[in-house]
Amino acid sequence: MIITEDFARRTIEEVAPHIEELSGLKVNLGGLVILMSDSKENAASYSEITNVIEVSESILDKYNKDSFKEALSHELTHLGQYSNFKDLSWRDYFARTTSSMPNEQNPVTSLIEGDATLIMRTFRNRYNPTNQEKICPKDYFAWSEILRKRFNGKRKDINELYTAPIKELNKIFGIN
Ligand SMILES: [Zn+2]
Repeated sequence: MIITEDFARRTIEEVAPHIEELSGLKVNLGGLVILMSDSKENAASYSEITNVIEVSESILDKYNKDSFKEALSHELTHLGQYSNFKDLSWRDYFARTTSSMPNEQNPVTSLIEGDATLIMRTFRNRYNPTNQEKICPKDYFAWSEILRKRFNGKRKDINELYTAPIKELNKIFGIN
């Protein structure tokens, strides 16, 4: 099955309010551009620089519809993160370029991807609990587990991490 831009937009509009509720972040779809791609790897991706969600046309050859919604829940969390915390992109860049960890691992990326994955998992538990497909990388899952165990769903505390000192994030994600 091929995903049309119209279907993608309707699904984004359907998922966005749930992400606002689950994350406590405002998810403003105004100005969001949807681009169709032929990626076989990612169901969807978000760029905060261009405010574009790229959606794979052929991803339902590989994933089911619930997984497509979950992928959007992850990307829409990114939209919320970057629009609520204006310096996040810069903080991520700074942390990445000063990180001594392999694979450019840094605590800001761990927070961004870990939290988007945590929201995606919460979305699945609530709306698609029987879905078994694996759609997130192992390290993203591990970072989301750190946040889940430590904060136990306390969104206010998690959202405060976005403006917390890098040192504090290093401690949480076990980075020296
Ligand atoms: Zn992500």
